Amino acid sequence: MSQSDLQDIRHFLVMSDLQGQRLICLNATSYSLGRNPKNSIVIYSQAVSRHHAMLLRVTSPESNLFWFRIIDGGLNGQRSTNGVYVNGQRVLSRDLRHGDLVEFGVQAVKADYFALTNLSNAQCEDLLQAEDPVLAFLDFNRGEHVTVIAEPIASLESSEASILRLASFPELMEMPVVEIEFGGRITYLNPAALNRFPQLRTQGQHHPLLQKLVPFTPASEPSQTWYRTVQVDDRYFEQTIHCLDESELLRIFMTDVTARHQAEQEVSQRDRLMRAMAEATQCLLTEMNHTAALAKVLAILGEATEVDRICIYENHPDPEQGHLAMSLRTEWVRPGIPPLLPQAQSQNRNYTALGLQDCYQTLLHGQMIQGSRSDSSPALQAFLEQDGIQSILGQGLMCGLEFWGHISLQTCQQPRQWSRQECDLLLTLASSLSAALARHHAEADIRYRATHDVLTGLANRALFTEHLSEALQHTRSQQQQLAVMFLDLDRFKDINDRLGHSFGDRLLKAVTHRLQSLIVAPNLLARWGGDEFTILMYPIADESTILAIGHQILSAFDQPFQLQHHEIHTSASLGIALTQPNNHYRLTGDQLIRQADVALYKAKNLGRNTCSLYQPQDGSGSADLELERDLRYALERGQLEVFYQPQVNLLTQGISGLEALLRWRHPSRGMVSPGLFIPMAEERGWITEIGEWVLREACTQARCWQTANLPSVVMSVNLSLRQFRQPNLVETVHHILRSSGLDPRYLELEITESVAVEDLSFTQHVLKELHDLGVRLSIDDFGTGYSSLNRLQLLPLHTLKIDQSFIRDLAHNAKVSHIVAAIVTLGRSLGLDLIAEGVEQPEQAQFLKSIQCHTAQGFLFHRPMSADAVTAILRETQGHSCLLSPVL
Ligand code: C2E
Ligand code: CA
Ligand code: CA
Repeated sequence: MSQSDLQDIRHFLVMSDLQGQRLICLNATSYSLGRNPKNSIVIYSQAVSRHHAMLLRVTSPESNLFWFRIIDGGLNGQRSTNGVYVNGQRVLSRDLRHGDLVEFGVQAVKADYFALTNLSNAQCEDLLQAEDPVLAFLDFNRGEHVTVIAEPIASLESSEASILRLASFPELMEMPVVEIEFGGRITYLNPAALNRFPQLRTQGQHHPLLQKLVPFTPASEPSQTWYRTVQVDDRYFEQTIHCLDESELLRIFMTDVTARHQAEQEVSQRDRLMRAMAEATQCLLTEMNHTAALAKVLAILGEATEVDRICIYENHPDPEQGHLAMSLRTEWVRPGIPPLLPQAQSQNRNYTALGLQDCYQTLLHGQMIQGSRSDSSPALQAFLEQDGIQSILGQGLMCGLEFWGHISLQTCQQPRQWSRQECDLLLTLASSLSAALARHHAEADIRYRATHDVLTGLANRALFTEHLSEALQHTRSQQQQLAVMFLDLDRFKDINDRLGHSFGDRLLKAVTHRLQSLIVAPNLLARWGGDEFTILMYPIADESTILAIGHQILSAFDQPFQLQHHEIHTSASLGIALTQPNNHYRLTGDQLIRQADVALYKAKNLGRNTCSLYQPQDGSGSADLELERDLRYALERGQLEVFYQPQVNLLTQGISGLEALLRWRHPSRGMVSPGLFIPMAEERGWITEIGEWVLREACTQARCWQTANLPSVVMSVNLSLRQFRQPNLVETVHHILRSSGLDPRYLELEITESVAVEDLSFTQHVLKELHDLGVRLSIDDFGTGYSSLNRLQLLPLHTLKIDQSFIRDLAHNAKVSHIVAAIVTLGRSLGLDLIAEGVEQPEQAQFLKSIQCHTAQGFLFHRPMSADAVTAILRETQGHSCLLSPVL
């Protein structure tokens, strides 16, 4: 008899009592019978007990066959008053067979039991629905086609085990119960087990429920009872396993713990995800290398979420179509999953062309994208298919305020429903990533600014020196030679002065452009400052090679530069320093740069537009050359200072004016005299820049004293020849006065007599303009230029400064005193103020006073001093000083 046939056996009771006859189809596992209305089968008769009997379904362990057992009373041992009779014989408990007649105490109350096979569902329905089911059933039962199971069952009714089982209700339990022999043979399945695990009987010990359990040796488990969880399909069961030693049986009780298991899984997944989150955030914060941090974070995330791939896409304009596109930048894949990254398809994916504008908008607005192949838009589906994705979860990434790109979790083997925890994790991580991105961009930006020149985009000094020291190490280890070049544009200052700074900037850019085409990595071109470039070149075979390269670089200037309709011809000078092939004393990068610089000055002195290679003897070369080189950076390195020397009214001893005198605090030589370095600066053309700085400094300082309510005095500032000849001098002065807020009448500009008379008409013109500005003008070192006062009469002057050589000679040369007296008389007659310079002795002062020269400057009164020292003196004299009233 096959399994399905067995299952088709149906059990019926035809119940007869005071209510008449009823047909009951026995489907449940147990029934209680009695007069109490709470019974599942109510018997209508006062002669039966309230709980008269029970019907229990009993299942054969060998087959799926079951039958019913009638028990007098209940399983708790209470019996009925009048007893239960089967086929006329009183029983306590009996397995029923087809055709049995059960009587409940009295004959009028009885039930006929039938077990029928070959009864279809429909037939069964029909019977139960019939007008008189009992009649219909009895009719049907008489039919010939019905096979009746008369002797079905190997009855266990008398066995001890069966009674034991009965007492523990396994038949009634919802809980599946299985009993096996130690060897694995199944000896018992309760109905719940049969129902739940239909494969159990056929699969036997291969069924997941019994796996790793049999054959069982009692020694393998120390206790009588133990527990384990097994998985059957997608459900989880906790097994309580009892070992019945004497009977050599294992009795297994099973509870479906799928819901609990899922909850536990969720908790542990949440734990795992939270740990991953913490780890990833920590990594983003502490890992200095952005790329390494990203790789680690994706791996952590991938393992925690058990996805197959994680992608980070960056948004950018499509270079061809202009629309927005995205390109895969970083990717993590589980081993065995094909990566997307080297593939061209992962780059330049145009949102519009892919029809993914909606996704773009969703991500842009900070929302997540969730989808799988079966439940997304056709465009997204196509995208998923192309990349072999089953399910995707994506979230946008911001860099500051900009929608930078997105990150997505992908499964490639199975579709996934994303849990809330996974969504939360991705959301949090995306915001951490966004912060890291912003930080990374800011850092890259800062790093770029710190290492590059803003105007030309070239490496700056810092980056150049960094590269140089790396290259030095490298070439040393390879026994190679390396060259550093210093390139300086010839007469760039002139171009700047003539055509303006912005034009100069353009020229620098154009020069950069030309040089860049000649210098390729690993060689490096850098802007050192101003019009100076440095070049790093390696490896270099020998001196002649680098000289040839040097000339090639200079030939880049052969063609003029076309700038704003100007054709600019310019040249450059080049100094080269080359490391020695096996030098015993190792040069530092700084030393090499210095050598190249010295070589550059050699080239300049050779008449420019040439290059020169540093030779060891150049090192001990002229101190002037070195000083000159240092002077170039003196201003930007803050080594220059302005000192002030007071001018004193001889009648009152009060301070009437201050002369600004430049000082250079050289790092190794100490104070360098302006007499030494000003001519140098003048020659090199740096004096314009330096002079402008002095002027600004002096005006600002003067204004500062005034606002501090100290006595207002005239500030004298020296102008050199070159400064004076500068086309935009008047403009510069005007601008500085405006920006410092100093009233022009407190500024006096000094030019020497020789400067004044060199081109008198030019001087006249410039002085007129300066005069119109309202500033005072004075002739410095008067008497040394042998010019007649008549010529100076043409100029709008305020002051004559008698050169200190006259004052020095006063004592020993009587003629000089007459000359000085004459100068003073003449000067006064022209309405000029007179200042005697270099007054060191009281007699000199006395004499000057006697000839009506009332103002003097010299060590007798004050030496040139710092602004702070002047402040103290001004404070002291405040109140009792008589000030020179400015002449208007
Ligand atoms: P100068 O314009 O004739 O300045 C006066 C010089 O005489 C200053 O020398 C001052 O220190 C010095 N001196 C003042 N009183 C006495 C004294 O009693 N005895 C002696 N022996 N010397 C005295 P310093 O400061 O060395 O400046 C030298 C020259 O450098 C200045 O001569 C001036 O031509 C030039 N110079 C100084 N500062 C500047 C500046 O900012 N721009 C320009 N273009 N030239 C400057
Ligand atoms: Ca002076
Ligand atoms: Ca002077």
